[in-house]
Amino acid sequence: KISREDFLNAFQNDIKPAFGMAEEQFERYVANGIINWGEPVRSILEDGDLLISQGKAGESGGLVTALLAGPPNSGKTALAARIAMSSDFPFLKFCSPEDMIGFMDTAKCQMIKKVFDDAYRSQLSVIVVDNVERLLDYGPIGPRYSNLVLQALLVLLKKEPPKGRRLLVLATTSRKDVLGELEMLSAFQTVLQVSNISTSEQLLSVLEYLDAFSSKDLDFISRKTDKKRMWIGIKKLLGLIDMAKQTEEAYRIPKFLSKLEEEGGLEMS
Ligand code: ATP
Ligand code: MG
Repeated sequence: KISREDFLNAFQNDIKPAFGMAEEQFERYVANGIINWGEPVRSILEDGDLLISQGKAGESGGLVTALLAGPPNSGKTALAARIAMSSDFPFLKFCSPEDMIGFMDTAKCQMIKKVFDDAYRSQLSVIVVDNVERLLDYGPIGPRYSNLVLQALLVLLKKEPPKGRRLLVLATTSRKDVLGELEMLSAFQTVLQVSNISTSEQLLSVLEYLDAFSSKDLDFISRKTDKKRMWIGIKKLLGLIDMAKQTEEAYRIPKFLSKLEEEGGLEMS
């Protein structure tokens, strides 16, 4: 028989919000957590906190918009998701080109508009608009993009939510240059720059945090990379570390360093 406890339990655990996303689902965009590997990460998270406060109580209106721009694999999506989750706003929604594969432009616009309309119904909402250039179907050959989706986003990024409602929009892109050409940058109130890992110290912070190598190996990597320049996104680096872990012990470090040289612009010699 069904008791009152079962009922309450179902309410708490089984019934998901009708609109908005359960936090666990958002969690998958931060699959590997956020490693605080240096100043650039600290500074983005701090800016994120400011956006949240502004979103909650800013005086200049109910809409706060920010673009997280950075190279591919630098961790833009994860950072946007983390900031969104730390807001504790009751309505969280992800608007991702992954969910719109094969959609016609009109269907995309409708889906994007629906996300915003749903958000307007909650007092405090966060929307992550992931990978804007993909959403716009941007392609470098031509170049081509969807003007319909562009116009829809430009309108929605400027539209104040209804009275008493507040909305924070976090968008991401790897092509700030393209958004600039499309005159979309000015639609955002703030642009936050997401950075790649660029120094030996930052690299070592990640390796130490993950406890992926012995301290002897870490010393060796530290010596080999000291004062060298590199440029590698956290997502790429996590992949290289994973690969190194699968490699036979004797080749692990040379393999890791040569991959880092190849993929991460590490200047050996
Ligand atoms: P793409 O250019 O393909 O869109 P991206 O820049 O959006 O890539 P993410 O998809 O966010 O990159 O991948 C970053 C991965 O690194 C995630 O799995 C995340 O959990 C992990 N990660 C660890 N530390 C950090 C960090 N400091 N910042 C961002 N992501 C981090
Ligand atoms: Mg991404």
